[in-house]
Amino acid sequence: MLTADYMDGRSTRVRVVRLEVAGENLVVSGEDFEVRVPFAEVKVDERLGRAARRLRFNDGAFCEVRDLPALDYLLSAQAHRDGWVDRMQRQSRSVLLAVIAFAVLAIAGYKWGMPWAAAKAAANMPAAISEQLSVQALRLLDDGKFFLPSGIATDRQQALSVEFHALHLPEGGNSTAELLFRRSPQLGANAFALPNGTIVVLDDLVTVIDDDGEILATLAHEEGHVHGHHGLQLLLQSSVAATFLALYIGDFSSLLAIAPATLLQATYSRDLEAQADDYAAAVLKLNGRSPTLLAEALKKLSVAHRQEGQAGYLSSHPATDERMRHLRAISGSLSTSRSER
Ligand SMILES: [Zn+2]
Repeated sequence: MLTADYMDGRSTRVRVVRLEVAGENLVVSGEDFEVRVPFAEVKVDERLGRAARRLRFNDGAFCEVRDLPALDYLLSAQAHRDGWVDRMQRQSRSVLLAVIAFAVLAIAGYKWGMPWAAAKAAANMPAAISEQLSVQALRLLDDGKFFLPSGIATDRQQALSVEFHALHLPEGGNSTAELLFRRSPQLGANAFALPNGTIVVLDDLVTVIDDDGEILATLAHEEGHVHGHHGLQLLLQSSVAATFLALYIGDFSSLLAIAPATLLQATYSRDLEAQADDYAAAVLKLNGRSPTLLAEALKKLSVAHRQEGQAGYLSSHPATDERMRHLRAISGSLSTSRSER
């Protein structure tokens, strides 16, 4: 039997009571009274050495128990653990749940929410801002010697540019994208679409592919990124903070600061790559060329990067094999209508 001192919380009177368990209730009985309190409503103070422990009730009354082992026995009989253990377990469960919920939301937000919001924002970005971002990013890349002047002969550059601008686009008309030629030992065989639509072609891409039709196919792929505003989308996606500052406060400096690195490390999702590939395939078909041209170009680029040990085009253009298969499959279905050039 467990005895305790009972205080009703209103008077200073101390009553000696018995504590017993009856089902889900704690029965507190004294000489002249008996109360039943659901165990769920009893708060047990933490154990502090050998000090008496208090059992608190909702009405402000409490019991003080000095026989700690007996109290432990009673509590364990009720499967009531020490407050802190209980709380810890409840907390760790809720913390774990919160962590899982947060992770799920974060992943979902990152995977779907962010790209969606960034795509929306990118599509609605005023042209003047895209222009500003692109011009400044290019300037930083040129000044930082990431981009060096191209070694491709001017007439070759012009010839490629003329051919590229002669391509008819699926949405009608021709590309208005400016082609800029640069050289970059670090980046090797690569091409980038800037937010304003300018396509930067690196020398190694031209020399590695070394076939006008295939080079045009990669340019059509970049035009696909331009058409889908992918560069801007990636930029906006890479920094929520910078995007917030830019769009809501009109301070573009943060966005500008991350633009060059983001554009260089451009890692488009498979989804965006597939969109750009499909766009390129549509351009090629429309102009009587085969989508396999792009597959061939991809093959050469991936071989070149493997040899150079450069991650460049591979990391920015993942799953090359899968993409080549897809492009060949597309072209297979129209081999009858295609004319080789
Ligand atoms: Zn791409």
